[in-house]
Amino acid sequence: MKLGIIGGGIGGLAVAWNLNTDKDNNIMLADAEIHIFEAEDRFGGNAETKEFNFGNGPGFEKEPLIRWADMGVNDFNIPAYLNIVDVMKKIGFTKGKDYRNLEDSTTYYNTMGHAMTANSTPDGKPDPWWGTAMPEDLRASVDDFMKTGGADGDNEKFHDYTMEDYINYGTETYKWDPRLGPEIIYPRVNGMYFTSGPLGPRAMPFAAVMHYYKIQEGAGSSGADRNYFVGGASKWIDALVEYMKANMPNMIFHAGFKAQVVPNGDNADYTVRNTTKGAVSAPVTCSHICIATPADVALRAMAGGDAPGNRGLPQKAANIMSQVTYETAISVAHTDSRLMPVNRNAWSTYNIVIHEPGSVALKPYVINYVANRHQNDAANAEFNKFGLPEFFVSVNPHIPVAEDKVLKDTSGNAAVANLKHFVFDFDCMQAQTDILPQQGVNNIFYASGWTMGSGLHTECWTQGTKVAAMIMEHAQSDGASVDKNPRPTRAALISERLGAAAAGQLPAH
Ligand SMILES: Cc1cc2nc3c(=O)[nH]c(=O)nc-3n(C[C@H](O)[C@H](O)[C@H](O)COP(=O)(O)OP(=O)(O)OC[C@H]3O[C@@H](n4cnc5c(N)ncnc54)[C@H](O)[C@@H]3O)c2cc1C
Repeated sequence: MKLGIIGGGIGGLAVAWNLNTDKDNNIMLADAEIHIFEAEDRFGGNAETKEFNFGNGPGFEKEPLIRWADMGVNDFNIPAYLNIVDVMKKIGFTKGKDYRNLEDSTTYYNTMGHAMTANSTPDGKPDPWWGTAMPEDLRASVDDFMKTGGADGDNEKFHDYTMEDYINYGTETYKWDPRLGPEIIYPRVNGMYFTSGPLGPRAMPFAAVMHYYKIQEGAGSSGADRNYFVGGASKWIDALVEYMKANMPNMIFHAGFKAQVVPNGDNADYTVRNTTKGAVSAPVTCSHICIATPADVALRAMAGGDAPGNRGLPQKAANIMSQVTYETAISVAHTDSRLMPVNRNAWSTYNIVIHEPGSVALKPYVINYVANRHQNDAANAEFNKFGLPEFFVSVNPHIPVAEDKVLKDTSGNAAVANLKHFVFDFDCMQAQTDILPQQGVNNIFYASGWTMGSGLHTECWTQGTKVAAMIMEHAQSDGASVDKNPRPTRAALISERLGAAAAGQLPAH
């Protein structure tokens, strides 16, 4: 088998890793050749780190001070990312050296810069959920929502509920404070990267939101243990790729290869061509394809439409992928403190701009990171004095960042990144269900974030494990995997994926 994986983000890398051609493990597909095609010069996709040279200064007289910031993927919660932690162990990536606790604090503030709620305590220690400046009654409702909602997210009864349906239900049934939805939960959900539409967080599937909270923040369980990658998320991806290159001889990595996949007319193969301008790389012929790009990109990268001999992207799969929509994020690293809450004491690691209580979404996911807090400078001997220098990352800045305050990376380029994430709405949940019977049809498989839950790193990895198993089974059988993957009901898929036991990674609640 010659497999072409299109996309070298964590989704594609997870499939490759789980095909298990590691020389230390069972070589399940000993004669397989696995090509990983990545359009950019680096692997990682949304995991993108930039480095900055801040020059010389106290303590950095001889060598310049080099610091870094993650533009997209930047943290993970150990209890929910055990699959990733296992791989890290294997490649020698360890806690303390390669990843560390971040300061898990959040401030919500309005567009005028006034902080509304924060969850860091005055001594800088993170408070379990919220904390300052919140009336006791409301706070009790928030705590109860996180606990009760975290558990109810798994309950089939609520699988068709929107956030608004569930908040209204809880306000009636659990007697939650009526301010809970408009003043806390809707603005808070608006600070996610996968809301969309005019009703924003109110119209989002309740199960989807709780799924995200469960993974990222331990909702419905004992809380979170959030960590950052020392040197940035790209360090983890680079280490993973280096390990695979050194230990998995069947893997062939192609960076700078913007793939276009064309079915060959008269045989069972696909030709993967590099459409990068000026590229001279030879096309690669593959018997199987795994698409690990965003769904909308895949529609452009894959020719097909049920070509003769059942080659190419099946029309059904194309229809499913076209149901998945995307939000783009512009991420900027800078030193412009005007984007932060006016009161400096209210600054947290995560600073989320919300809209006035009661308003609906304007632009989703406006968030400003204080990089020094994210990298826990307070506990970092080298940088234990904040402000040397203080710098930020803004995703979707709500006011323009002053041009002279945008950081330049070590190559001299403005530190700006364009990233995208699918919208986790009811259509996407349906697409995740519908794509299952399509896995393997015409020798094409589907990985990447949109195919699994909210598409966080841990879920991309879980999906990579599942897809790799399907590919192996497919390659060793007659190739007809379509009947082996019947389409589940949406409720069944949600239960399987959201249930703590099925995920096998989340702490009991
Ligand atoms: C702003 C932001 C912050 C996030 N923060 C976190 C976080 O902290 N923790 C977390 O777990 N998750 C986070 N996520 C979610 C994150 O997107 C996923 O965890 C994961 O990185 C998605 O991986 P992927 O491989 O599915 O897609 P991507 O990361 O999008 O990778 C797809 C890859 O395909 C490549 N590609 C596209 N077209 C082609 C082509 N024609 N040929 C070859 N290659 C192609 C792209 O260049 C890209 O490298 C964040 C997402 C965003 C947008």
